[in-house]
Amino acid sequence: MVAYLAVAAGVGMGEKILIVEDEEKLSRFIELELAYEGYEAQKAGDGRSGLAMAESGDFDLILLDIMLPELNGMEVLRRIRRFSPIPVILLTARDTVMDKVNGLDSGADDYITKPFAIEELLARIRTALRKKNSSGAQGGGQGLLRLGRLTLDAPRYSAAMDQTPLELTKREFDLLKILMENAGIVLTRDVLLERVWGYNYVGETNSVDVYIRFLRSKIDETFGVKYIHTVRGVGYAMRIGDEA
Ligand code: CA
Repeated sequence: MVAYLAVAAGVGMGEKILIVEDEEKLSRFIELELAYEGYEAQKAGDGRSGLAMAESGDFDLILLDIMLPELNGMEVLRRIRRFSPIPVILLTARDTVMDKVNGLDSGADDYITKPFAIEELLARIRTALRKKNSSGAQGGGQGLLRLGRLTLDAPRYSAAMDQTPLELTKREFDLLKILMENAGIVLTRDVLLERVWGYNYVGETNSVDVYIRFLRSKIDETFGVKYIHTVRGVGYAMRIGDEA
């Protein structure tokens, strides 16, 4: 019974948490506590670098301070919500009703007022992660794409080969999603550039090829399959090919 309760208390299972907080002592304290609980924690000390790390798509949950240098927490949250439904818990020093309402309106999953007991924060984190995991299941397979051994869960921003999660950046994920949605159809570089990078993209024209190479390395080469096909002079298509 005691052992069961210890399990039920829910230690982290390597879930990755991003801490965006400029108070170094507090941030370090949270990082150590999270590591002790079995989470993998990383820190950002200002809004801009926090947003950049969130864009990598590598995290399961974000702890976001509101008063931050560079970009404030509310702005960081607004931008995160343009590309990700990742759970965000706001850390706020200002215990006013307005802040709470604004926080939840702007897409935060929860908020906690500083100073807080670490147990309280850990409980909020467990709840947010549980909600995230069960909302994916409630989706009833909606947004779930499959190709051979590969699955992509769009609402949860996750992709897996068999049961092995793929570590994809947002760009790689978006590209893979478009290719899987159009499995068997050849997509030109222009179409991919437009749909993944946007109409106004003015960067390198070979970005598509570069990111196709990243995906090939993470999927085809890592798992010994041939799903991503080059159609010479035209573009790319995803389909199940001969095992490599
Ligand atoms: Ca702060």
